[in-house]
Amino acid sequence: MLIVCAEQAVVEADLVGGRLACPSCRGELGPWGWARERVLRCSLGDRLLRPRRARCRGCVETHVMLPELVLLCRQDEVSVIGAAIEAHVGGEGHRPIASRLGVPAGTVRGWLRRFAGGAELIRALFTRCAVALDPQLGPIVPAGCAIADALEALAVAARAWVLRFGPTPVWWIVSRLSAGGLLSGNTSALATRAL
Ligand SMILES: [Zn+2]
Repeated sequence: MLIVCAEQAVVEADLVGGRLACPSCRGELGPWGWARERVLRCSLGDRLLRPRRARCRGCVETHVMLPELVLLCRQDEVSVIGAAIEAHVGGEGHRPIASRLGVPAGTVRGWLRRFAGGAELIRALFTRCAVALDPQLGPIVPAGCAIADALEALAVAARAWVLRFGPTPVWWIVSRLSAGGLLSGNTSALATRAL
């Protein structure tokens, strides 16, 4: 699995041009059909995704390429999930967040629990990313609690990304930098993710 640019034409050009690297061996990826279709719940309504599949010319492993607007195993757009996390860190409970975003309360509670459970690891990962993106970066000021610290590290890493690569929605950057695993609960994958 690989998180790629949300613009399909860019992905297609990169894939055909051999500019995408295999997440397993860093070999060159080439086109390899399509993965199954899935529905993504977005803030502006449902969207049908048909992710590209790629195969590595080195290790011959195949990888599903998900656009950066998703997270692994989540049916909702990452920006919607991110809005819930931001509101929660701001002090709002999961029920009002859920009704405002039009998402079931249990789903929002699940996101927030996963984020809280992985907060220390998320903070560590995004702090590493921020420093890798901007070696001149000063210390990140503690925000006072684990989830706020994790969110602050995300924001700092996203700002460093934008300075380096240009404007991109914050939560798309988060999906990229966590390889889609922000809420996957697979903490070892998060911890070993390479920039
Ligand atoms: Zn490979």
